[in-house]
Amino acid sequence: MKLKKTLSSILAATMICTMLTACGSKSDSKTIEHTIKGHNDDITLSVTLSGEKIDKVEVTNHSETESIAGKVIVDLPAKIVKTQSINLDTVAGATVSSQAILDGVKEVLEAEGLDLNKYMNKDSASSKAGENITVDTDVIVIGGGAAGFAAATKVAEAGEKVVVLEKMPFVGGNTVRAGGAINAADPERQNGQTMNKSEVDAIIELTELEPKNDDMKRWQESVKTDMDEYIANGETYLYDSKDLHKLQTYADGDFLGDTKLIEYFCENALESITWLEGKGIEFKPEIQAVVGAVWKRSHALVREDEKGVAIIEPLQEAAVSNGAEVFLNTEAKELIVTDEKVTGVTAVNNETNDTYTFNATKGVIIATGGFAANVEMRTEYNTSGKWSNLDESIPTSNHPGATGDGIIMAQEIGADVVDMDQIQLIPTWSKSGGSTIKGYINNTIYVNQDGDRYINEDGRRDELSIAALKQPGSFFYIVNDHADTINNGYTQEQIDGMVAGGQIWRGETIEELAEAIGADPAKLKASIDEFNNCVDGAPDKFGRKVFDKKIENGPFYASSFIPAVHHTMGGLRVNVNAQVLNAEGNPINGLFAAGEVTGGLHGKNRLGGNAIPDCIVNGMNAGEQILK
Ligand code: ADP
Repeated sequence: MKLKKTLSSILAATMICTMLTACGSKSDSKTIEHTIKGHNDDITLSVTLSGEKIDKVEVTNHSETESIAGKVIVDLPAKIVKTQSINLDTVAGATVSSQAILDGVKEVLEAEGLDLNKYMNKDSASSKAGENITVDTDVIVIGGGAAGFAAATKVAEAGEKVVVLEKMPFVGGNTVRAGGAINAADPERQNGQTMNKSEVDAIIELTELEPKNDDMKRWQESVKTDMDEYIANGETYLYDSKDLHKLQTYADGDFLGDTKLIEYFCENALESITWLEGKGIEFKPEIQAVVGAVWKRSHALVREDEKGVAIIEPLQEAAVSNGAEVFLNTEAKELIVTDEKVTGVTAVNNETNDTYTFNATKGVIIATGGFAANVEMRTEYNTSGKWSNLDESIPTSNHPGATGDGIIMAQEIGADVVDMDQIQLIPTWSKSGGSTIKGYINNTIYVNQDGDRYINEDGRRDELSIAALKQPGSFFYIVNDHADTINNGYTQEQIDGMVAGGQIWRGETIEELAEAIGADPAKLKASIDEFNNCVDGAPDKFGRKVFDKKIENGPFYASSFIPAVHHTMGGLRVNVNAQVLNAEGNPINGLFAAGEVTGGLHGKNRLGGNAIPDCIVNGMNAGEQILK
């Protein structure tokens, strides 16, 4: 969610300061407005000085992502005043925003001719010895992302005591960065849409594959029966079923996924949406296909512009209002095992240095996410042959806390892992680092720097990433038209801001857009024309199946993207009861896991839109199972 305060509120704040000074509350007090570049856009600071003393620091205008930097925007200025120091640590996860605030105050002090050496005290809290604190509870959840809060909510709703340990200063993990799409077969919502011939063919093709096992055979038979009836009745609606979702999850994960985990996940995906709706989380009636989803079954949030915050906020509220206690800045270090049962966790508060012993009567749920932000781990496990290199030169879309802690902690007490070499890159990571227009794949195309299309955009994420890395400069553009952009909730103000900020490019015509991005106008025009013909029913030379509307209403926009490490499909080996298994395949007493920290569901490739339902379905499951 972005916060942009208006100019009038800044002016009002400035006027109040001036009035206070004029009133003589502090005769030598002076308020200076200063603007500095933040992560998303400019940050405006208001710094009040009385002689050498920093009286007040306030952020009066910013566009930083609220869920990531919101706390920093409030807490860091207060800390600067309290410690009279600009030599403070930046906040993990919001490094750019916090550094901008520190630099902004420094620039003000410098401009006022003050001696910077006087503002270099190290924060005494970061070097103080902490206390040892013991907390007794029923269930410990490690990780405050979607999986953690789904689990904690289930436990709290059952009336049991639960604590959530979150190492960052804020909750939400990757979900608050994600679009928040949730895949589930939902015929009631989907039947209003239509299906074209290539989509029908795609289903039939799946039913005709050589089955790998009995589960796959059963899913194929059920989908085939449905399709025979569909064709016999001359239907045209968009077909979907739980079994088609299972088949696609399995087939597009190259048949590596655990069919039992897939079965449980797809059977419960729609129920997880209903459960979220019960917490006040609303989904749009129209169904889409997000990048890599392969089928139009992605449910989009009504509060889409707030991203996954619209999921995490109500979930956290549900957990806390039922009694869950959230410990921020609290990093779990080790699992405590007593008589072969996991009975607790040791942790440290990274702000206060307090050390914690959390004891749990029922056990521990690990929901610490994957290891996309741990370069050492992703390099060590990069053995699949798919990616030549996953070192720091490849960015990650993940939050900095995704460092595989839960995997390491559980391995230390004998947990088994699965599919650790299966690492996914998302093709669509903003090249500029700023905001972009991505849209749904239904109505967008990918072109390279020359203006040529090079891939079926409805394909798998790994194929899209591999193809993107092969384009000139290893990047590509997504092109949208105005109608689609507005349909996807972008406002004119946002679009103009992105164009002015150099984050996206605009052209009244396709040719003009090509010139703006330095592509060949004739090639870009040919790419768009070809795409539009496919919307009218022509076969696509790349085999794309998902089409919806033409790209025809100018102005047209282009945003540039590069692939980034996105999801680690491998992780702790679990069974359908969310129990963590040891090397012998037996459940470790008292240890459960859910979400990206687990492995086995997605096989070699996670479908776009399958991650959040994985967290919700299996988080709910872990929360229920641990109480049994
Ligand atoms: P998922 O999608 O599976 O819920 P996320 O990565 O979104 O996973 O969220 C996991 C959360 O767990 C993040 O907020 C992360 O900061 C937190 N986390 C990771 N390691 C630890 C740890 N050692 N102690 C406490 N919290 C942790």
